[in-house]
Amino acid sequence: METKDLVIIGGGPAGCSAAVYAARSNIKTTVITEDFGGQLMLTDHIENYLGFSKETGASISEKFEEHVKTYENVDIMLKKVEKIEKENGIFKIKTGDEELLAKAVIFATGTKAKKLGAKGEEKFLNKGVGYCALCDGPLYQGEKVAIIGGGYSGTEAALYMADIAEKVYLINAGDKLTGEPITVDKIPKKENIEVINNAYTTEFFGDQLLEGVKYEDSETGEEKKIEVAGAMVEIGRVPRSDTVDFVEKTEEGKIVSDNHCRTSEKGFYAAGDVSTIEEEQAIVAASDGCKAALDAKKYLDEQN
Ligand SMILES: Cc1cc2nc3c(=O)[nH]c(=O)nc-3n(C[C@H](O)[C@H](O)[C@H](O)COP(=O)(O)OP(=O)(O)OC[C@H]3O[C@@H](n4cnc5c(N)ncnc54)[C@H](O)[C@@H]3O)c2cc1C
Repeated sequence: METKDLVIIGGGPAGCSAAVYAARSNIKTTVITEDFGGQLMLTDHIENYLGFSKETGASISEKFEEHVKTYENVDIMLKKVEKIEKENGIFKIKTGDEELLAKAVIFATGTKAKKLGAKGEEKFLNKGVGYCALCDGPLYQGEKVAIIGGGYSGTEAALYMADIAEKVYLINAGDKLTGEPITVDKIPKKENIEVINNAYTTEFFGDQLLEGVKYEDSETGEEKKIEVAGAMVEIGRVPRSDTVDFVEKTEEGKIVSDNHCRTSEKGFYAAGDVSTIEEEQAIVAASDGCKAALDAKKYLDEQN
């Protein structure tokens, strides 16, 4: 079987940027990804990516995809990677039906939504409970909904839902909202958002479909409930790193990487949100992709 020079896993900002830089460094590259855009597809507005003062996540993702596809030396496989192993200095990348060999890998798989672990969460998954306001929100036109989480994604989701739903309960475990200040400042201006602080979500209830959410008031210990047709859990994200177990990771599962995205395993780079960068932002992920590709070029030159 042919051993490829470079395989990039992920089609978000980090993976796409890595693909552009690798292609321009004349590295024959394969990108394996489930989609283009990654988490950017989950937001309806990007205002802080340089050069884009107002763009939807979907349109910026399309531009990334178009850009990557301009390079003939980049092969694209729309697939899920199931496992990566390392044997005799070569990486073995397994998808459901194929196996690829590579001298170097840029791992840019980002993060996925964190689950709450509350009672009924699995039972009502896609029956009222979801993890993406942008994806599921339009299903709840004119209904009452709950957003669980008062951080960056929760506050953003609440604002988005305020224009769709009749009423939005923003259920926050802390005593104040901790999202981006510019977003948090907009919340009181939306009359149909009710912020419930110190509220620890305990249960999703209903019959066939979700009918409501129970929470504990952490100040009084009292159990309370609200009736909603939809509940979106927006409490943060976890790294998608379980396909690889030969590199050093943090307890949380982030892949430990240096300023060139190098990891504990030579030739294996971690770029973007899946790595230990602190700023989980698209522009930082794109910058990581660039650094990883340029360092991979040096690594491959040494190998060849
Ligand atoms: C709701 C929301 C709003 C946001 N708003 C902003 C914003 O306004 N501005 C900003 O700068 N950032 C924003 N972010 C953060 C930003 O989206 C991320 O920092 C950025 O997308 C990280 O890029 P990445 O390439 O590291 O990972 P991701 O974007 O997560 O991309 C990962 C890619 O890897 C692929 N993948 C994962 N696992 C596999 C596998 N096993 N096999 C194949 N492919 C796989 C995925 O399909 C995806 O294409 C937001 C995030 C969210 C969730």
